[in-house]
Amino acid sequence: MLDLTYESPKAKTIAGAKADWELVIGLEVHAQVSSNAKLFSGASTKFGAEPNSNVAFVDAAMPGMLPVINEYCIEQTVRTGLGLKAEINLRSAFDRKNYFYPDLPQGYQISQLYHPIVGEGEVLVELGNGMARLVRVERIHMEQDAGKSIHDMDPNMSFVDLNRTGVALMEIVSRPDMRSPEEAAAFVTKLRQILRYLGTCDGNMQNGNMRADVNVSICQPGQYEKYQETQDFSHLGTRCEIKNMNSMRFIQQAIEVEARRQISIVENGGKVVQETRLYDPDKGETRSMRSKEEAHDYRYFPDPDLLPLEIEQAWVDDIAASLPELPDAKKARFIGDFGLSDYDASVLTADVDSAAYYEAVAQGRDGKLAANWVINELFGRLKKEDHDITTSPVSPTQLGGIVDLITSGDISGKIAKDLFEIVYTTGGDPAEIVETRGMKQVTDTGAIEAAVDEIIAANPAQVEKAKANPKLAGWFVGQVMKATGGKANPKAVNQIVSRKLSL
Ligand code: ADP
Ligand code: MG
Repeated sequence: MLDLTYESPKAKTIAGAKADWELVIGLEVHAQVSSNAKLFSGASTKFGAEPNSNVAFVDAAMPGMLPVINEYCIEQTVRTGLGLKAEINLRSAFDRKNYFYPDLPQGYQISQLYHPIVGEGEVLVELGNGMARLVRVERIHMEQDAGKSIHDMDPNMSFVDLNRTGVALMEIVSRPDMRSPEEAAAFVTKLRQILRYLGTCDGNMQNGNMRADVNVSICQPGQYEKYQETQDFSHLGTRCEIKNMNSMRFIQQAIEVEARRQISIVENGGKVVQETRLYDPDKGETRSMRSKEEAHDYRYFPDPDLLPLEIEQAWVDDIAASLPELPDAKKARFIGDFGLSDYDASVLTADVDSAAYYEAVAQGRDGKLAANWVINELFGRLKKEDHDITTSPVSPTQLGGIVDLITSGDISGKIAKDLFEIVYTTGGDPAEIVETRGMKQVTDTGAIEAAVDEIIAANPAQVEKAKANPKLAGWFVGQVMKATGGKANPKAVNQIVSRKLSL
């Protein structure tokens, strides 16, 4: 595992007019479960389908329809819990959260308020420079997603698309352990990375498959430490919740803006009211959506259509045994096995496909050299064309072949770049290309000596100058490289030039 000699970062302080304030942040992340079918029906979850084409009778709340739980969605949620090192509750239960909305035909959302399926877990959030925050997860519960109201298609009418209605969501609730906007975004990034490794949520924030409610409060220095000691929330300020953030950038902006709003209220003698707010990125402000007083009375009660959910420890153990290697473990292994820097290991383990690609290239080769080629050359080139690693025109075998040719001294680093370009654009076996195109490095010192002699003989004036100023020997090296089409071994050329000029 990773060497946990991390330091915890300091809280972000924001200077008020009268005092300094610190931030406290807790997140509720909604992650759509990767599953072909919905939580309580067999309807498809496919994104972008014709509106209202993926709707079972039970999703549309037709009279007499009963929900039947999708075992795979439970498995996915348990897998997520295990991936976050969380407690799995063998008995959980579903509750109805009652409210009216046009995109919620049942008139209630089935959720798990009192007995969630997953209990306490944790996420290690690395922040660079040896800093990390261990963010505690309070719980994960399963619930249904609502449909979508569409207001911008017609000037007089609104439309409702129920394709999303009943899709399984995991609500992952963190403790208020984050202390800066950057940490909050890094938490969501890390969570998304873990869920993607697990295959339990695709983490696509643009499509709304992952979104976060951000809880923000401010406190004076020292108060948070009291809360940590006692776990007594009264040491913290009143929080506001900013709903439905679907980008890392907005999460950070909203927290900052909301904190400043709260500071100005408190410093002017007011009180922060606990409420739900929305962030408006165009105006750069948050505004009230509903206050606690007007808050919906959800009248939660156990859903009478669904029995409590009981799962067996043996089943949980089977899922645990099938977990893939997760980001922290993979990163630690890459550092240990391939001698990578912390930074390179992070980049290469950012997603499973990149990690698998790298590992295939590095296996049996110089790990650092392989990392340089994957990160600097391949990733750089892929990015230029908006390709991702899964559609890379250069396979791990081909890139490994290039690395081998460098290691054996058959080609120089410079020629390797040309070779990479050829393989990238036209394919082929690197060793064969080097052979047929005559790209091999000339290490034959006889050939290099001949080239050096020729250039010295043709440039007597340069020779005089170089003798007076040895730095000018570089000019000869350049000429030889040019004459040999970049194939001469630069080290050998350097040595021979120095010797021949008797520098
Ligand atoms: P509710 O039941 O009103 O949803 P919870 O106790 O479930 O409240 O907390 C919701 C979220 O708010 C959690 O993510 C938690 O970490 C966060 N939270 C609680 N107190 C604070 C606070 N003082 N400042 C910031 N976030 C907080
Ligand atoms: Mg809550």
